[in-house]
Amino acid sequence: MITDTSPCPIYFGPELDHSSWLTHENGNRRLDFDPLVYPLASGGWAYQERALSKRNIHFTQQKIIWECMEKSQCECGFYMKLKVKNDFLDLPWEEEIITTYSRMNLSEPADRLPAIAGIAKAYAKRHTLTYLAGLWKETIAHNLLWQNSERNPGPRIRPLVAPTWSWASSRGRTSPLHFSSDTMHIQVISYKYEPVAGGDRYSRLITARLHIAGTVAFGAITNCRDGVVQMKFEDKTVCVGMDYDISAAGEDYIEFGTVLPFLLLCDDSGRAVGAVLRCRNKERKEYERIGVSSHVKFDPFEFTTFHWVLRQATTMELILI
Ligand SMILES: [Zn+2]
Repeated sequence: MITDTSPCPIYFGPELDHSSWLTHENGNRRLDFDPLVYPLASGGWAYQERALSKRNIHFTQQKIIWECMEKSQCECGFYMKLKVKNDFLDLPWEEEIITTYSRMNLSEPADRLPAIAGIAKAYAKRHTLTYLAGLWKETIAHNLLWQNSERNPGPRIRPLVAPTWSWASSRGRTSPLHFSSDTMHIQVISYKYEPVAGGDRYSRLITARLHIAGTVAFGAITNCRDGVVQMKFEDKTVCVGMDYDISAAGEDYIEFGTVLPFLLLCDDSGRAVGAVLRCRNKERKEYERIGVSSHVKFDPFEFTTFHWVLRQATTMELILI
């Protein structure tokens, strides 16, 4: 028998698309969102605040969502438990953290390093690593194998907001190159960075120089069919992904046919994998990174083997800027 006859409000509203919010790949919290639907959650600065917080409450257009290290729950009651207790700092740095971060919106390119400084500090402490402008000294050869994944990467950001060897210098999305070997073919002799006033190694950097010893082969950069860029060494080739649009007029323009250094970094099932450089100051041995080996299959019968490059290459010291 109903005794309470006072009015009771019932609300109706659009249902949240739970799949866009509560899907956790690899058992982790979802960190990439459609910027049109979730402008705050897809913002670069919000990324580390969210990632480093144990609990978050999101006020979306449709519903309020709770999120903690064990589950995400919508106010309608729908929830998803994480496969593993989520700890953001245990995620792989390049494959997960930087790949997702590079997809987030940052209106100011100079914020690319500062907006992830909090995560980097905590990550360095957890894994006992040495931070170098978005990369780690201990795994530097692998970390240097990031590639720009934009269809049109656009011109290089000038003035530079990070050293050219860091993904932070690149416009838009980046992702790591996958390869089969753990061998690193460069050695860091020293590094030097100059942060902005009052900053530290995690801040925006005015300069960051990496003094390395490595193996370098020289080849000509060529434009092949279908927009595939290659580096040609006599009759051998390596497919290359450029860090920016090298055809844009200005100080970063590079003419096809120019002979450039190829810095060997790793080997991948017998295939040479490395970075394409350009010399900026011969006397001071200063080089910029302009591209990286790409996995585009241009011609499976024509590629540069690791041992072939090694035979042609010379060992040298250089400064990556
Ligand atoms: Zn719901």
